Amino acid sequence: MSTDSPTFRIGVLALQGDFREHIRSVEQSGHYAFGINQAPELGEIDALILPGGESTTIAKLARSFGLFEPIRDLIKAGLPVYGSCAGMILLAREIEGAAPGQESFGGIDMKVLRNAFGRQVDSFEGDIDFLGIAAPAVRGVFIRAPWVEKVGSGVEVLATVESPSGAHPVAVKQGNLLATSFHPELTDDSRVHRYFIEEIVAKANR
Ligand code: GLN
Repeated sequence: MSTDSPTFRIGVLALQGDFREHIRSVEQSGHYAFGINQAPELGEIDALILPGGESTTIAKLARSFGLFEPIRDLIKAGLPVYGSCAGMILLAREIEGAAPGQESFGGIDMKVLRNAFGRQVDSFEGDIDFLGIAAPAVRGVFIRAPWVEKVGSGVEVLATVESPSGAHPVAVKQGNLLATSFHPELTDDSRVHRYFIEEIVAKANR
């Protein structure tokens, strides 16, 4: 392999949710991914993906597997992390509609609203213009998805959706952290994963 195109080791948190699909998307983008659920494995990765699934369950399992504090500390220390859907919620500083006692790792200065799109449209797909990914648009698959209610000044909004209550961010970046409300891992398009690896992981590991 040439040193111009290093292969990064991407850990995907494999406690609950669609971690297999994330592993496949990373592999499709030409990098190496594997599921992790033990604290020592955190020492073997260049970046972490928090999958879609159920954010309260993932947070509770992370606690019982002894992963919660280590992941929170690694995020503070600058580990590149990408979270989709439940993973976005886990990266939020503040959660609206949280279950009682629901915890997040935090890291992105944003407030997310869980299940924001409501019961009528709790799953839908749409074309998303994603800042930093050239046309064609990214296909956004939303499943009981959150949206972002509020962001701090350090947060870059990469994509929004229109709703009757206005435009809401559905993809954001802050430092080495990326979050999307939707699930690129459920499509055959690995450009969001490639964006994460090339724009965030590669720069952080330079
Ligand atoms: N509604 C879920 C939660 O709050 C997220 C859904 C998903 O990841 N598809 O955790």
